Amino acid sequence: MQSQLRSINLTELETLLKSWSFPTYRARQILNWLHQKHITEFGEMKNLPKKLLGKLSESSLVSVLKLRETPKSNDQSSQKYLFETQDGHFLESVLIVQGGRNTVCVSTQLGCKMKCSFCASGMGKFVRNLTAGEIIEQVSRVARTLSPLEVGNGRDRSLQAITNVVFMGMGEPLDNYDATLRAIKILMADWGFGLGGRRITVSTCGIIPKIEQFVKDVDGRVRLSISLHSSQQTVRNELVPINKRYNLDDLMSALEQLYRKLKREITFEYTLIQGMNNSPEAASGLARLANRIHAKVNIIPYNPVREADYQSPTPAQVKTFCALLEKKGVRVTVRQTAGRDINAACGQLRLDREPIRGTSGPKLICSIKFNLPPIP
Ligand code: SAH
Repeated sequence: MQSQLRSINLTELETLLKSWSFPTYRARQILNWLHQKHITEFGEMKNLPKKLLGKLSESSLVSVLKLRETPKSNDQSSQKYLFETQDGHFLESVLIVQGGRNTVCVSTQLGCKMKCSFCASGMGKFVRNLTAGEIIEQVSRVARTLSPLEVGNGRDRSLQAITNVVFMGMGEPLDNYDATLRAIKILMADWGFGLGGRRITVSTCGIIPKIEQFVKDVDGRVRLSISLHSSQQTVRNELVPINKRYNLDDLMSALEQLYRKLKREITFEYTLIQGMNNSPEAASGLARLANRIHAKVNIIPYNPVREADYQSPTPAQVKTFCALLEKKGVRVTVRQTAGRDINAACGQLRLDREPIRGTSGPKLICSIKFNLPPIP
């Protein structure tokens, strides 16, 4: 079985090279080709001895995703990447170009086990976790299309290409804990992508012990976004079923402990659903929770999913809800799902292509931060 070279960290690669009697400095060269120059074939590693390349290619794979489609939104601000895995499944990433930032939204699982009632990611079949290599290959492949590798002329424009990575595609990152953490360490390492923790956001539905472990493991450096969606137990039980196991009170106590250790502010994501969680009382409840930990709130107007019987709020309702939060001193941004015209709702394109039948092709949503113009 060949291993995925992108999943390997510096120490592991050095150990491997030593066992083959190659000098350890080759490890950084190899990782530089992978994570900064974003190569997809061994042949592109120009400064390595043929013998080493031979050993590497016998035992490992440099690329495991096949890029199938890359539709762009009409306004060119977002682009979707549909990849096929080696075992023939589809996953998606999204590139969002906005305000000088190039953000990649990555998937962490094929499907999702959390079954949030309004999210189509959990409606299809759960297939498997992605590997760390599959997670970061999404970033490299997107980066590569941004600035093609310029071998030989000494210029490397790819270094600054991707500025932010958000774990908000398909799947629950903390339900694929080891691969997510490994991917994040590679994104942050100087021998990896060299991204600062503030440029990485992990979004979770609230698996409390995993959140606590995660904050510890990344030393509080990575941004944390909590999918709250309601400040009421009963409503949250319906929307986010994991709430039955890790309820709001426990989640809030845990976050109160954590926010002191976190070097970044916490964000609450709040999918606004008409008649469900958009009343003035709901706004007060949300403001109360947000103010307890000085959290910022991202409102995501519900993006209709065929199988779920919920209503999107009108723009006026979104505005009213945000105004109520702001009145209570909460910082609010509104998110839009990226590029509806390219099915940027994460997973949508995947399900159209996935050879899973017996489903009417639910629409999966990846909500990407998309700051609308300020609410007047
Ligand atoms: N599993 C992670 C990532 C999910 S995707 C999590 O739960 O946080 C990122 C955000 O999009 C989550 O807040 C998710 O609840 C939200 N989302 C999912 N489906 C949506 C839909 N149909 N409309 C609006 N937001 C949705």
